[in-house]
Amino acid sequence: MPTSVAIVGAGPHGLSIAAHLRAAGLQPRVFGKVMEFWRRGMPAGMLLRSERAGSHIADPHHRLTLDQYEAEHGKRLPRRVPLDEFIAYGLWYQKRAVPEVDDRRVVQIGCESDRFRLALQDSSTVMAERVVVATGFEGYASRPSAFATVPARLAPHSSEIRDIASFASLQVAVIGAGQSALELAALLHEAGAMVEVIARCPTVRFLSGRDLLRGSPVHRLIYPPGELGPPGINWIIQLPDLFRSLPAGLQQRVARQVGPVGAAWLRARLVDVQITAGRRPIATSAVGTRLRLILDDGSERTVDRAILATGFRVDLANNPVLDPRLIRSLRQFNGSPELSRGLESSIPGLYFAGAAAAATFGPLMRFVAGSGYAARAITRHIAASSATERRMPHWANDCSRGLR
Ligand SMILES: Cc1cc2nc3c(=O)[nH]c(=O)nc-3n(C[C@H](O)[C@H](O)[C@H](O)COP(=O)(O)OP(=O)(O)OC[C@H]3O[C@@H](n4cnc5c(N)ncnc54)[C@H](O)[C@@H]3O)c2cc1C
Repeated sequence: MPTSVAIVGAGPHGLSIAAHLRAAGLQPRVFGKVMEFWRRGMPAGMLLRSERAGSHIADPHHRLTLDQYEAEHGKRLPRRVPLDEFIAYGLWYQKRAVPEVDDRRVVQIGCESDRFRLALQDSSTVMAERVVVATGFEGYASRPSAFATVPARLAPHSSEIRDIASFASLQVAVIGAGQSALELAALLHEAGAMVEVIARCPTVRFLSGRDLLRGSPVHRLIYPPGELGPPGINWIIQLPDLFRSLPAGLQQRVARQVGPVGAAWLRARLVDVQITAGRRPIATSAVGTRLRLILDDGSERTVDRAILATGFRVDLANNPVLDPRLIRSLRQFNGSPELSRGLESSIPGLYFAGAAAAATFGPLMRFVAGSGYAARAITRHIAASSATERRMPHWANDCSRGLR
């Protein structure tokens, strides 16, 4: 008996979608370790950049908020939610909303006539009528080409760094200018590493001014919960249907407004860290156990490690879990799947949530604050198409139709 909906990935989006589907009377199966990316792909000691209003994992009854988590645990979280607390919140949410998560990894999602076929890490298979791919940034870490030939241990991507203490007393170049780069630089510096941030943008920017009027209705009017992008643009980002309705050129201009920027509270933690802006490494080579970088102004650095805090770029060609035939058959835009209103791809029954949905629905999808929109839209779509299929079984959901 195939499962009606399989969700691959148990991060904030996968869990929220599962909770909404369950509330609609469906029994999705969720695969993956709960909050795994937050447990493995972010540095210990990190604080969330998102404000509290944008950090609740959406649940259908608004009963699993951070406030409720605090109330049940008899504590008050600091304004900047620490990573460990957010992970604990995610685990609490899962136990309450989606008690049964299958922690096996899915190694491949393929398609057999009118069903999807999920191959699991233990060689077993699960058939599903619909699949929601909620695998976050997996497979999409972006590594500048200048680092292509050096051993990965000398130049790891930031998502491979969890343990900051092992960098104490090392000389480290952090490449990048976003929150991830700047917070890593602060944590490394505080742990005793000698850090230089190297950023290709002309200046490193920090958010400012957002705390004026915080808590007042005026603030809520100017800054919606996601707080992504400057005032005005942030409302377009907050409303994924509006973002989707814009012409492609305008969508890209809006999305660029969520460029690399650090939280205001990071500035003070970086006063003793060297920041070199407007420069990028153009060549690298291993020198014994160290790494030599040549920057585009001809200057050189020799460091113990370079950490590539250079973000993620969704490109289905690099998706490690989708059968290449499915990837070839998907309608795409700049490497991302083209999605319809319910986050369904051009292959009927195959949905994408999280970062992969950002090209269609905007940058909100890359953050926890996007979990509510995604979960509601997918649930509505699946509930409506399940009702149709009860009248017209199978043909409407034939994933192999048009497979190339
Ligand atoms: C350093 C850093 C800091 C961030 N800070 C914030 C913040 O403060 N606020 C915020 O809103 N967002 C933040 N983000 C963005 C954050 O990644 C997203 O908000 C969030 O993870 C979106 O949830 P998701 O479920 O789409 O993705 P994820 O949380 O990445 O969940 C996807 C899950 O799928 C799992 N998975 C992947 N492939 C498979 C497979 N084949 N089988 C089974 N499971 C699989 C992964 O292990 C992962 O656990 C940050 C990102 C980074 C890198």
